[in-house]
Amino acid sequence: MAFTRYYQALKITDNLYGFFWQGRGNNCNAYLFTDVLEGERPHAIVDPGHTINEFREPCFKQLAAAMQALDLEPKDIGLILNTHAHPDHCAAGEILTQNASKTKPPFIAFSAEEYEYMREVGEKFAGALGLSLEKLEPFFLLGEGDLKLGKVTLKVLLTPGHTPGSLCLYWPEEKILITGDTVFYGSVGRTDLPGGSLSQLQESIDRLAELDVECLLPGHFTEYGSIIQGRERVKRNFQAIRMFFV
Ligand SMILES: [Zn+2]
Repeated sequence: MAFTRYYQALKITDNLYGFFWQGRGNNCNAYLFTDVLEGERPHAIVDPGHTINEFREPCFKQLAAAMQALDLEPKDIGLILNTHAHPDHCAAGEILTQNASKTKPPFIAFSAEEYEYMREVGEKFAGALGLSLEKLEPFFLLGEGDLKLGKVTLKVLLTPGHTPGSLCLYWPEEKILITGDTVFYGSVGRTDLPGGSLSQLQESIDRLAELDVECLLPGHFTEYGSIIQGRERVKRNFQAIRMFFV
């Protein structure tokens, strides 16, 4: 475990690190799959987070520092997987692509549904949501099914509700579930923002609750914590969520 003022970093498996946001303002947790891609940029990041948040905290700069404290370099990120298109999850993708050499920027991925949503919302609310489509142009779109990152095979699960194209990533071999803003420790993502749907969230939660999960990695902490570890705790979390939220 490594701490900085802004991030608590944790090695979760040999190939997966969690960077848990500790700042005052809003930002998400980031997850880094290390040495999974072939070529010069072997790391894949899930939700790189904000660039700078509402308290002017330099979120991405601090994430880079937290990574470097573990000898992990942001320039070695070859793939950016976004659970959804809210700026506190995906805005730092802009910096990652700008800092990269022009010939080899990292690939940026969203679900096809989320990309549609970004295009619609982007035209209407570009300023309000801070989305810049040109800077976050996805080089490929993710659909439901297997995503092979070297020896790590993830399942992409479309879990709309918080946004129309939110996705979760399930790693069956390690029984790890990365949930973005769909499920938190003792809570769920809000559905009152543009594109949110409580009935879709209910269906998505029902689907996720069926998975065999030993470790749930959410997009934000709550008063209860970030990581939910242990099959029983994960199950109880889904039960509590169904009782109180959806
Ligand atoms: Zn969100």
